[in-house]
Amino acid sequence: MKVVFPLCLAASLFAGAALAEVPRVAATTKPVHALVAAVMGEVGEPTLIVRGSASPHTYSLRPSDAGALQQADIVFWTGPGMELFLEAALAALAVKAQVVELAESPGIALLPLREGGAFEAHDEGEAHAHEHGHEHEGHEARDMHYWLDPANAAHMVEAIAATLVAADPEHAASYEANAAAEIAALGALGEAIEVQLAPVRAVPFVVFHDAYQYFERRFGLNVAGSITVTPDSLPGAARIAEIRARLAGEPVACVFAEPQFEPAIVNTVIEGSAARAGTLDPEGATLEPGPGLYAALLRGLADSLVDCLDGH
Ligand SMILES: [Zn+2]
Repeated sequence: MKVVFPLCLAASLFAGAALAEVPRVAATTKPVHALVAAVMGEVGEPTLIVRGSASPHTYSLRPSDAGALQQADIVFWTGPGMELFLEAALAALAVKAQVVELAESPGIALLPLREGGAFEAHDEGEAHAHEHGHEHEGHEARDMHYWLDPANAAHMVEAIAATLVAADPEHAASYEANAAAEIAALGALGEAIEVQLAPVRAVPFVVFHDAYQYFERRFGLNVAGSITVTPDSLPGAARIAEIRARLAGEPVACVFAEPQFEPAIVNTVIEGSAARAGTLDPEGATLEPGPGLYAALLRGLADSLVDCLDGH
């Protein structure tokens, strides 16, 4: 009898320890969180840092975010140049965490940031007065909106699964099965959107900030320019006048706002032109977080584009 008790105790301690071994995971943006949530599935739930309708470009860290980062075993983020609020905070706060920069996922080829994304002819004063939020000293100027190509999202899923399997081998089978299902779904999603967007591929449009290079390339779209390179530097009056002059001479069908940023700018820009106004949400600002957010985000972009561009 003396032997039985310690064995029972040991068994229950072991079970408790096994349960506690699911890593505490934090994800920065909604698209990253969605892919992590899809891989974790029934095993656990990641914490989302940039919540609500906030943009990762202009977000500031709250005390509760600092707590989530301090407690995390693993932090998944897009990488330097996107979650600007995080670059300084990560080193200070996520001291015990494994920090995974998904931009480094095998298979993802980052495109250079487009200098001419906001139309070629910059107003000299503005171009020099504003620093690009995507471009930082010490980093090459890479376009960090890579999640908007579903093929890249599949590579992100592979990297997320590999990280979780290494950190929590006990749940390896779940992570691997969830990742395989998500990668298959991403493939089907890309094919469906390709079919949906085929009729409007050639129709020129203007976007709010230069976020869509990866989406454009994947689906062969005709983006004529963007109002601003990055939303942390909004255009001034001279720049808006310049864009309006450009629109007057170009067959642009639509100018797209984004949910977080002043639609008034878009309305001013299209005044007196033939272009219509639409909205694109490249970060999922209007969507509920969760494993389904990524597909909803891409479908939302495709629906908004077809709604505004069809018929031109
Ligand atoms: Zn952006």
